[in-house]
Amino acid sequence: MRYLEKVSKWVERQPDAIAVRNSDGESMSYGKLWEVSDSIASYILENSEDANPVMVYGSKSIYMLPLMLACLKSSHPFVTVDASLMKTRVADIAAQLSAQSLVFATVPVPAVTDMRVVDFAEIDTIAAEKKTVSSSSWANGDDLAYILFTSGSTGAPKGVMVTASCVDNFMEWATTIGRNDDERKVFLNQAPFSFDLSVHDYIVGLSTGGTVYCLTREVSENFAKLHTALEKADPQVISATPSFVDLCLADKGFCQENFRRIERFVLVGEVLTKTTARKILDRFPNAMLINAYGPTEATDFVTTIQVTKEMLDDSEPIPIGEAKPGTYIRIVDLESGKECATGEVGELVIEGNTVALGYYKREELTAEKFGKGELDGVAVRTYRTGDAAYKDEAGVVHYRGRIDFQVKLNGYRIELGDIEENLRKLDGIEQAVVLPHLKEGKVAYLVAHVVSSYGKQGTFADVQEVRSGLKELIPDYMVPKKVIFHDKMPMNTNGKIDRKALEDNNL
Ligand code: AMP
Repeated sequence: MRYLEKVSKWVERQPDAIAVRNSDGESMSYGKLWEVSDSIASYILENSEDANPVMVYGSKSIYMLPLMLACLKSSHPFVTVDASLMKTRVADIAAQLSAQSLVFATVPVPAVTDMRVVDFAEIDTIAAEKKTVSSSSWANGDDLAYILFTSGSTGAPKGVMVTASCVDNFMEWATTIGRNDDERKVFLNQAPFSFDLSVHDYIVGLSTGGTVYCLTREVSENFAKLHTALEKADPQVISATPSFVDLCLADKGFCQENFRRIERFVLVGEVLTKTTARKILDRFPNAMLINAYGPTEATDFVTTIQVTKEMLDDSEPIPIGEAKPGTYIRIVDLESGKECATGEVGELVIEGNTVALGYYKREELTAEKFGKGELDGVAVRTYRTGDAAYKDEAGVVHYRGRIDFQVKLNGYRIELGDIEENLRKLDGIEQAVVLPHLKEGKVAYLVAHVVSSYGKQGTFADVQEVRSGLKELIPDYMVPKKVIFHDKMPMNTNGKIDRKALEDNNL
């Protein structure tokens, strides 16, 4: 794997440099990162069957990255599961993995499975064994590097299988973005390792000899602590969702005078509004602002554009840019399946060398969304994103929202069907529709419309009951902020629930 080769070069060159640090003050050098990951990889090779996925459970412990590297070194795909995920979702993921899979838990993991748990004390003991593995055990080419579970429309998460070559191809391009100097940079990592956004931080960060600086959830969600933590981190590169950067910008002190070293914002995962972009460009005149676009199914992002002040004066929303080398963005007409003409809106299809293998153990869904294509004479995979977009005369891609029921809220990818499915599991809920409430084309919050039996009318207590019931089943970020009770759902002429009529009621 070219990624591991790159990291190993830095291990030789700067064994004492810091590879990973977190806002709790813990850190690990390149030398130690390599040593720990080698020992764990050797343990995995001895204790797990060929290519079985390995769950890596936790949040921002400095052991998360060496555990993930250990999986790559032993060619067992890692499945990162964030410690904030509720028990039922952990159980959903565990149920999809093999019962023989190992779980490395940097913090206690809920008892949901027969899988063999290696707890933190044991990880520490294994790490101290100083065993080594040969590079012939590393993941390569079409071997799986990791499986990331994202929200699925049926109420259970689906696992996206990303290969070693996807990661390598992403790395080769993503390391060329930004200023081309030899400085080892600090990459701020806020996104949980269970989200594709974090891929940029540790793939670009470690392959360029930089430091990955992880913000714990406690800090990144606490406005009072965030500013001080950012000052301590003193990052050069911030790759995050616009929503997270909005949180940082809420503090007037988040500006170039106080953060002199910030040279690059790579914003990805949801619509970048002009309001956010303008604030960044005004407050960080020396930094480059990049709008990046891409789904988990294409490793991380696949298009980029540098945002300029001129773009903000344009009447159009900020475009998502052009495809990376080795990738073609095809805009496809939904009815005819043919490529759209310039300016015509259709479904955005990604064809290229970072498209994932498909969904883990979900052949039907894989066949529905993934396909095969050819680019410059090379066979590539294709992925239908479900995003609506068009290309302008210059070939620049413009995002136009979703064509299905998936939304982005604060950077989190959510299938509305997933919430609806879980709402219907609650006592007394008969029908449920969840809709996004938009501001400047971006989802501000979610609204649940429900019809209930035994007389729930939507008093404050009823709403609280629904929300707390949901919190038992799905992550907090998916729980709608508003719940509106209806006597019955409005119907359209096709006899389907009239989502449009509900939308007009979506206050
Ligand atoms: P995820 O798999 O969590 O990265 O989510 C992928 C989805 O996020 C895409 O299919 C888009 O709908 C949305 N998305 C990602 N980047 C952008 C962007 N720059 N602008 C608008 N939407 C985006």
